Amino acid sequence: MQPPPSNSANGIPLIFELGQAGRATDYLEHAKPLESYLPAAALRSGLPLPDNSELDVVRHYTQLSHRTFGIDLGFYPLGSCTMKYNPRINDAIVARPEFADLHPYTPDELAQGALEAMYELERSLSSLFGMAAFSLNPSAGAHAELGALLIAKKHFKECGEAQRDTVIVPDTAHGTNPASATMCGFKVLTLRSDARGRVSPAELRRVLGPGTAVCMMTNPNTLGLFEDDIAEIASAVHDAGGLMYYDGANANAIMGYARPGDMGFDLMHLNTHKTFTIPHGGGGAGHGPLGVAPHLVEYLPVPVVTRDAHGRYALDFDRPKSIGPMRSFWSNFAHAVRALAYLYANGSDGLKRVSQLAVLNANYLRVKIAEFLATPYPERCRHEFVASAQRLKREHGVRALDLAKALLDHGFMAPTMYFPLLVPECLMIEPTETESKETLDAFIEALRAIVATAKENPDALLQAPVSTPVGRVDETTAARRPDLRWRPPP
Ligand SMILES: *Cc1c(COP(=O)(O)O)cnc(C)c1O
Repeated sequence: MQPPPSNSANGIPLIFELGQAGRATDYLEHAKPLESYLPAAALRSGLPLPDNSELDVVRHYTQLSHRTFGIDLGFYPLGSCTMKYNPRINDAIVARPEFADLHPYTPDELAQGALEAMYELERSLSSLFGMAAFSLNPSAGAHAELGALLIAKKHFKECGEAQRDTVIVPDTAHGTNPASATMCGFKVLTLRSDARGRVSPAELRRVLGPGTAVCMMTNPNTLGLFEDDIAEIASAVHDAGGLMYYDGANANAIMGYARPGDMGFDLMHLNTHKTFTIPHGGGGAGHGPLGVAPHLVEYLPVPVVTRDAHGRYALDFDRPKSIGPMRSFWSNFAHAVRALAYLYANGSDGLKRVSQLAVLNANYLRVKIAEFLATPYPERCRHEFVASAQRLKREHGVRALDLAKALLDHGFMAPTMYFPLLVPECLMIEPTETESKETLDAFIEALRAIVATAKENPDALLQAPVSTPVGRVDETTAARRPDLRWRPPP
């Protein structure tokens, strides 16, 4: 056994630091050499690949997989992320060879089933959210935001209103909203929420004007509160000549109950990887359908799936006003199939039930947690809510961060912290609809015990987590002097 290399990641060496010369060949000893399959020009000599046995590789990655946390291991109440359980059947469906083995360049006539799946998803989303049409092209929420703002920009240019250069974003907005607006070349105007945690129509009217391009709203917002003045807000923005954008990343509070199209939104996105099944986290592949009201349909990214009078499906690239494609090929197709499977499995009644349970679970947690931690907006929430550790910090020196880290020792993922920014020492909690009452109760009791410890013995929390493979990291050094490069051991 080699001595543990200096770069080992918390006790587990890196894969290419393991192994011994000659070990990798055992199992394939009698296989034909690579040269018999590939031309010599395609082969590199002296390629320093790690020489590991298959067993070592399997153990290495299995051990690594046990050092992380995921929805399959425990409760993951990460606000604004909708870390729900994803039924396995949706993965099984998309793994069928009819979907998985289809080449993206397959001619339309030979890919009718796949095109029908995309068309059906597009139609279902349009009816569920009250939009004229969706594009399945963008690969994430932020990607769709950018697409929508490119549409707005092109639209204003064509109307001779290129002076509209400002995007209004409430202070509760997800960080991607101002980032997308900036990337698209707009100025960002941040709107302060009122005492009720909402956009005030009067405040909004004060900033509207001939420079207003788009107002980006999340409803329910990231405090988990429904913007009940939304109709008035939408009229005010429209009266000023602007467009309304709906951030629908977490739409599991409204499905079957409210539609952004009816609220007056012109543009929107969904995160099928949050609201409609699809495992996510760790920056994996996402999928952000982009919806538009009737007057913006012609700007949608290409291609758009069409269906003719004979029921034949096709990819339509001939859309002169389109902003163009947002990515290579048609979409994260596998995610579109998963989302469609999820919609079909639930049906319209099932989707309503999803919304009911998401809201019920969030309110159950909110009311129970309010027994021992401040909840700054003590009214009925939608799919998530915020709590604040401000008082604990002031009186006992225990921050939201410490509570979050301590939860890891109880086997729970931490909630989202320090967001939205307007709530000091914020914990943003989203249980989702798929958790049982027993799980929610266990979480409540863990947090109750942690808060009690914070008052009696705050020092005990400052070291947490103590049971995870990685304890407290030095966040300042990690941010200022990140060590991202592997170096061979001396
Ligand atoms: C997750 C999220 C986004 C961004 O979505 P990505 O797919 O991560 O780019 C935008 N807005 C809200 C409210 C979100 O929760």
